[in-house]
Amino acid sequence: MEKHKCINCGSTDIMDVEYGTPDEDLIEKIEAGLVLHGGCAIQGLMQPYYCLDCDTRFDIQCTELFMDHLKQIHYKTNDEDILIDFHPEHLDIQVNTFRRMIPYNKELKDILNSSALEYWKTDNGNAWSMDISCPGYFRESIQLQGTDETPYTFKLFRAFLNKLTKTL
Ligand SMILES: [Zn+2]
Repeated sequence: MEKHKCINCGSTDIMDVEYGTPDEDLIEKIEAGLVLHGGCAIQGLMQPYYCLDCDTRFDIQCTELFMDHLKQIHYKTNDEDILIDFHPEHLDIQVNTFRRMIPYNKELKDILNSSALEYWKTDNGNAWSMDISCPGYFRESIQLQGTDETPYTFKLFRAFLNKLTKTL
C-alpha cells in the first residue's frame, strides 16, 4: 500500500482512522494498534488518516462538500493580495487592483483539491494569511496563517495560484 505523507508536516508516521460502531474485525485491529478508532461517523469529520507526529486527522484531498461550498479565498502576503471568488464554471480573480475572470477547469480544481487545504493547521507564521469562506458547509469560514514551508502541501496551493496569476 502506498504510504501517504501528512499534508501538514510531511511525516509518513500515519495511521488509518475508522469511524462508526466497530465490528469484531475492527476491534481486533484497534487492539493491535493498527487502526485508530475515530468515534461516530459524522459527515465532514471522517478524515481517513491520522498523523502521529503532529496529531492531525486529515485526508489527502478536500471533501466534495467543501469544494462545492467554497465561495471565496482571500490570500495575502507582504506584497500580494489575491481575492478569488468561486463560481461553478469560472473564477473571479482580483490581484491587487487588477480583476479578471478565468474558466474554472478540471486541472485547476484538481490542484486545489489535492492541496487538502481544508485540513491545514494554522501555525501562526507571518509569511501569508488566508481567509476561506464556504457558506453552507459545516465550517463556514477558515482562517489560516503560515510560512512558505508549512503546511507540507502549501506548494500545491502555490501552484494553483501560479496557474491563476500567470494568465493575468
Ligand atoms: Zn503531521
